[in-house]
Amino acid sequence: MVFEGLAEKLQDTFKRLKGKGKLTEKDVTEAMREVRLALLEADVNFKVVKEFVNKVKERSIGSEVLESLTPAQQVIKIVNDELTDLMGKAQSKINFSSKPPTIIMLVGLQGAGKTTTTGKLAGMLKKQGKRPLLIAGDVYRPAAIKQLQVVGEKVGVPVFTMGDKQSPVDIAKAGIDHGINHGNDVVLIDTAGRLHIDEDLMGELQDIRSTVKPHEILLVVDSMTGQDAVNVAEHFNEKLGIDGVILTKLDGDTRGGAALSVRAVTNKPIKFAGLGEKLDDLEPFHPDRMASRILG
Ligand code: GDP
Repeated sequence: MVFEGLAEKLQDTFKRLKGKGKLTEKDVTEAMREVRLALLEADVNFKVVKEFVNKVKERSIGSEVLESLTPAQQVIKIVNDELTDLMGKAQSKINFSSKPPTIIMLVGLQGAGKTTTTGKLAGMLKKQGKRPLLIAGDVYRPAAIKQLQVVGEKVGVPVFTMGDKQSPVDIAKAGIDHGINHGNDVVLIDTAGRLHIDEDLMGELQDIRSTVKPHEILLVVDSMTGQDAVNVAEHFNEKLGIDGVILTKLDGDTRGGAALSVRAVTNKPIKFAGLGEKLDDLEPFHPDRMASRILG
């Protein structure tokens, strides 16, 4: 599970700190050195680690903390607060349009879990009482359309497709019209992914964006790729502008570097987390709960 390694190391560090009773500045500095190493080992972006440790140190070394009756507890609370902040403070939700349908565009590289996640999100919205429609816009990957139809069927959400001979822009436009005519209040457009970021992919996504003007562009990234996921997010955000990130495969990511760095590096929130292959393994991302997972 995510943060396994980090949780173990930080909990060890804090156990030692608690065992000391009264703390000196040196104790805090030593603990922060361990926190720094643990975060780096968890593959957190090094700039993010540096800022994080400096902030925690600054807040911990004040006399209020060191001279309190439970200094270690105070330091742990500060780490907890700062970890929560790092991941975005509060849960960040989908920005629904006041005038339906809300148009959500899902983007990402091949293999990140985009098609599965699009289906999961549609299923989650349906359970919340929405009437979603999936639009099959990945016309390049063989079987992508079929795959979306299969997940759509499993979650009980209709899938709009025009096969793979039309342009994704035309499919997206026609799909939205179809949704409007059928009373769908949310449409989710599954777009093509490539193995790597390239100009063609970005150009096509920019065309879809400028034509359909989505209310949300959600980037799906694979958390197991660590800092690569963060670089992908930075790049998509620069070229396309994203509203949020969905981090997939957190169930297999023992380190958690992407979860801890994406927000600070891109300034865009993580909105959902994928926690398994099943179609109900998608959860809203709660920074505070994630932080508690690390600190136990
Ligand atoms: P796409 O190429 O981005 O559309 O990726 P797919 O949706 O085809 O997913 C690629 C693989 O990742 C599939 O085997 C999915 O079952 C798997 N997958 C997607 N999300 C998760 C997740 O949150 N956890 C796990 N363990 N597997 C996932």
